[in-house]
Amino acid sequence: MSIPTPATLTSLEAIAAAVHDCTACPLAAGRLTAVPGDGNPHSPVLFVGEGPGQKEDETGHPFIGAAGKFLDEMLSAIGQTRSDVFVTNVVKCRPPENRDPEPDEIHTCTDLFLWKQIEFIAPKLIVTLGRHSMGLFFPPEYKISQIHGQPKRVRGRVVLPLYHPAAALYNGGMRQTLIYDFKKIPLVLKKVQLTP
Ligand code: SF4
Repeated sequence: MSIPTPATLTSLEAIAAAVHDCTACPLAAGRLTAVPGDGNPHSPVLFVGEGPGQKEDETGHPFIGAAGKFLDEMLSAIGQTRSDVFVTNVVKCRPPENRDPEPDEIHTCTDLFLWKQIEFIAPKLIVTLGRHSMGLFFPPEYKISQIHGQPKRVRGRVVLPLYHPAAALYNGGMRQTLIYDFKKIPLVLKKVQLTP
């Protein structure tokens, strides 16, 4: 059993190594490869999705496949590439059959890794993708259908909740909403950076 202690997580690289060894929750049993997240460690924007799917589990990288391609297209529309930003997930190991991560799995994984990643990256803006990452920052009574695209300061950081690209991919209305909300990122970021 490998459960990292916070004192050993002294950098993003150390976090990634610990994620690959981690067996702190039941998701470790079903994974091929853990997915710590990757991108620009100095990015002012951090994207937080839900969890790895099949392709991510096979490759060890977040947002590969159709949803990842859609994310790349939206990044391109705001003049960014994947290497400009940092992308990670709430849980770092694939839930079986792509089921939702359980609350205790989310709690264990974020306590170990995500909050530390946020500390090291120190993003100006956190963009949550989907309701599970939104749920880390907003009260449970908040619905993504009501607050998507509306930035809010939470825990000292500005958080912009967006639909998950996988959920929006084949849903015409949600897809257009996500594209519209996504284009707000540069303006929200500019406002955050101008605010002392
Ligand atoms: Fe560890 Fe997170 Fe994977 Fe669970 S999901 S085994 S806490 S890295």
